[in-house]
Amino acid sequence: SGKWGKAMGIVREFKDKCGTPIAKLRQVADAMTVEMHAGLASEGGSKLKMLISHVDNLPTGNETGIFYALDLGGTNFRVLRVKLGGVENIKKEFQEVSIPSNLMTGTCEDLFDFVAGELAKFVATEGEDMQIPAGTQRELGFTFSFPVKQSSIAGGTLVKWTKGFDVKDVVGQDVAEELTKAMERVGLGMRVSALVNDTVGTLAEGRYSDPNVIAALILGTGSNAAYVERANAIPKWQGLPPKSGEMVINMEWGNFRSSHLPLTDYDEILDSETLNAGEQRYEKMISGMYLGEIVRLVLLKMAEEAEFFGDTVPSKLEKPFILSTPDMSAMHHDSTPDLKVVATKLKDILEISNTSLKMRKVIVELCEIVATRGARLAAAGILAILKKTGRDTVKKGQENQKSVIAIDGGLFEHYTKFRNTMLDTINELLGKEVSRNIIIKPSNDGSGIGAALLAASYSQYH
Ligand code: ADP
Ligand code: MG
Repeated sequence: SGKWGKAMGIVREFKDKCGTPIAKLRQVADAMTVEMHAGLASEGGSKLKMLISHVDNLPTGNETGIFYALDLGGTNFRVLRVKLGGVENIKKEFQEVSIPSNLMTGTCEDLFDFVAGELAKFVATEGEDMQIPAGTQRELGFTFSFPVKQSSIAGGTLVKWTKGFDVKDVVGQDVAEELTKAMERVGLGMRVSALVNDTVGTLAEGRYSDPNVIAALILGTGSNAAYVERANAIPKWQGLPPKSGEMVINMEWGNFRSSHLPLTDYDEILDSETLNAGEQRYEKMISGMYLGEIVRLVLLKMAEEAEFFGDTVPSKLEKPFILSTPDMSAMHHDSTPDLKVVATKLKDILEISNTSLKMRKVIVELCEIVATRGARLAAAGILAILKKTGRDTVKKGQENQKSVIAIDGGLFEHYTKFRNTMLDTINELLGKEVSRNIIIKPSNDGSGIGAALLAASYSQYH
């Protein structure tokens, strides 16, 4: 019928606008490389903040001792305790707590009191074999996955909130100090020895067991990347040149923007629904907080303009963020012949029943379009890092030089089709010869463990 044709027209137009042919991905990568240079040249020189992490020494594998870490920055937060005794000998204990949503937009004290309280409970479970030497202070690596302008390895001020957080009166404050004050309030005399972004933590954790790790990515609620840069390629760095000659840069790539990005009207609507409209536009195309929402927005348009679900618009479908990326992923991976999973999700989440198989196939296709665009754009970001570090080609005399990229985050870990498309696209962009030397290393919860490793590297006791 005419309505079906109209609905298919909406899908076709969306698909066209989401196109990511290789030539376009190269333009995106080139634009990102340009912005990387600009962000390194001067403060505020680019939408890419290219934040200096103050990490100029990555773990070597020789770190020892007992350290804590706290990983805050998305849907869940984790407290960890690790005992380091060499790469083959690392004992971890952790606990994961979901962050009550009211704390994400509440007050600074409430958020940090909650975090410190959970940490105190965890410290209380310390076993006999996890005791630090008498007379010393417990040390903590704090993974804080928002843009922070570091003043040192152990301190820095919040630049802005992202990913649905908007806690009052924290922007411009030193978040390590806020945590320290909250720990004091609950009677925990712990020292924040390292304040790190989750990308930097993941990089540290990767490097601990593999010296070829040169970059790390997060593909979870949000998305970001960090990589190892030559210190003399960072004109804006005012400090002494680091002994290692290297510095880890937290790109804050989520805020990348370029006219080459395949944006659609739905991306504009999504952006306007967020607490940080106008910001993090790349992140909003590739990360877990947003992919399901894009699918919902297209379905809503189809319902409104082509009566895709009948003559009324299902009211649940009008609710922003009701369709999560894990649910989208479940529908996308539905391998039952009659798409039972899709039917169940539609019924349970959107209260839509009686869909035809033909309709459910269209919904799977929407998931495919959104996931493919995100995965391929993320691959373009990786190409940008490889270009910037001169690892996108095979160099004479270094034919076997490996470049390892550690990747953490629930989206990459669980969304198989997203992951596979991203991996395929990296190979497609680099070609056979170069891809042989590029290794993607899944990192499970590297961000927290990495912070504990950095707390060890930058411990007050050596
Ligand atoms: P965070 O990024 O908040 O630190 P994670 O790395 O655990 O946390 O990532 C969680 C995010 O990963 C979720 O917000 C969700 O978007 C995404 N995710 C989790 N499970 C799945 C899944 N099965 N399919 C797709 N995405 C998932
Ligand atoms: Mg995380």
